[in-house]
Amino acid sequence: MINNKLFILGPCSMESLSQMEKVTALASKLGVYYIRAQIFKPRTNPNSFQGLGNKGLEILDTIQSANENNQFGFVMEAGSVSQLEMITPYASIIQIGARNMQNFELLKAVGPVFDEEIHDYVLLKRGFSNTVSEWIDAAEYLIQSGVPKEKIILCERGSRTLTSPTGVHLDFLCALEAQAQGFHVVIDPSHGTKDRKYVLPLAKAALAMDFDGLMLECHPEPNKSVSDAKQAISLEACEEFFNDIFN
Ligand code: PEP
Ligand code: MN
Repeated sequence: MINNKLFILGPCSMESLSQMEKVTALASKLGVYYIRAQIFKPRTNPNSFQGLGNKGLEILDTIQSANENNQFGFVMEAGSVSQLEMITPYASIIQIGARNMQNFELLKAVGPVFDEEIHDYVLLKRGFSNTVSEWIDAAEYLIQSGVPKEKIILCERGSRTLTSPTGVHLDFLCALEAQAQGFHVVIDPSHGTKDRKYVLPLAKAALAMDFDGLMLECHPEPNKSVSDAKQAISLEACEEFFNDIFN
């Protein structure tokens, strides 16, 4: 938490130890605790990079051992029950992505593995074609599975649209309604805009609207990101943003 806001920084996909070292060095400098540590990537095309899997877990161990006095909280997505089992020992925040918002069997499996000693939250993204009430219903599956409501973060990541220049529309109205229904709400302007030139203006807007925090994709070499390269901001841009909003 910085000024009572929750920030999650990091690359779209974990790619290498050196990538994660650079990201975590910046996070330490900024005082950001939660890091995107995605070892499984749900990709539209099966030929696209699917994630490091097990190899990614070794990288996370290395990062934590190198930062004994400054541990990070990893935010990790599970797209299936078997992936959930793999990430639960490592994740501080269990992420259920947009494509799995209505994967009811996955949602039901979260409560039984949710352990407040290890896990701070479950982050549930809104599906890009789902209504706010479907989103709340999906959160209800988590609650009924045993995840306390106050441990759920709903993450707004934009809807498909014909009118926006990038085909996605970050929906603050959905996010406001989720907040009105008593959930923590974090905004993801990276997937919510798909273009880095729009990410920080909407990040600022989200903070001005007093949502609970932000998830931001950043990368040491944004154009070389193996996934979502267009929306990744540089580490320098990220640092400048934090200096701008907090100084
Ligand atoms: C992600 O945050 O890594 C991701 C895949 O986002 P979404 O589920 O919103 O597409
Ligand atoms: Mn991404």
